[in-house]
Amino acid sequence: MNNVKPTLCLKKISKSFKQGSQNLEVLKGVDLEIMPGEIVALIGPSGSGKSTLLQIAGLLDRPSKGEITLDEMKCSKLGDGMRTALRRDYLGFVYQYHNLLADFDAIENVMLPQLIAGVNAGTAREKSRWLLERLGLGKRLKHRPAELSGGEQQRVAIARALAKNPKVLFLDEPTGALDEQTGRQVLDYISRLQTEYGFTIVMVTHNLNIAEMANTVIRM
Ligand code: ADP
Ligand code: MG
Repeated sequence: MNNVKPTLCLKKISKSFKQGSQNLEVLKGVDLEIMPGEIVALIGPSGSGKSTLLQIAGLLDRPSKGEITLDEMKCSKLGDGMRTALRRDYLGFVYQYHNLLADFDAIENVMLPQLIAGVNAGTAREKSRWLLERLGLGKRLKHRPAELSGGEQQRVAIARALAKNPKVLFLDEPTGALDEQTGRQVLDYISRLQTEYGFTIVMVTHNLNIAEMANTVIRM
């Protein structure tokens, strides 16, 4: 007997984009069940729909057809406000380019989404400091993005995504802009935190070495 319920369930997900008079069918009936603490890697050539699927699974875009269930909540019928709240409270995102705010230092970048979510400043600061230390950035708290290396910037982006204890962390080619060794190091940090906290990971990559850390590899 196994009562564990999937964290995220995609059922018959299709997505097409209108291109003038043409209909571009990117996803055709994708089924995917992701269990708590699972690490899923989406791999495939450029243009195969990896980012599209990630955006849909992360409630940033809606499918043309199909149902997404997040912790047994059916998401297709939810309005934009509720979807935004679910993203804010349950999901974390990391992209190829870090999108850190240039005028703020590392700890402020990690604090900001927490402040916006209503966490008090003292708590947000402590949480951010702790996460940055765990990511090996204890001596970089006051550095602005331009004063950090690519791998360090990406680790700040990971701390920012993890600061709200997301159930699911979505990563879209998180090491795509890094050299091999730095990319490996960033993944080691993610992997260590994941082992400790057990959050679920859905990661797009075209690096097969990276896909090694996954429990499940989906080829698109
Ligand atoms: P991948 O991440 O695997 O490289 P994407 O999911 O970004 O692929 O894109 C898959 C296909 O969908 C591409 O052909 C792309 O041009 C198309 N596409 C993605 N987003 C849009 C959009 N908003 N409008 C039109 N076409 C899109
Ligand atoms: Mg992509």
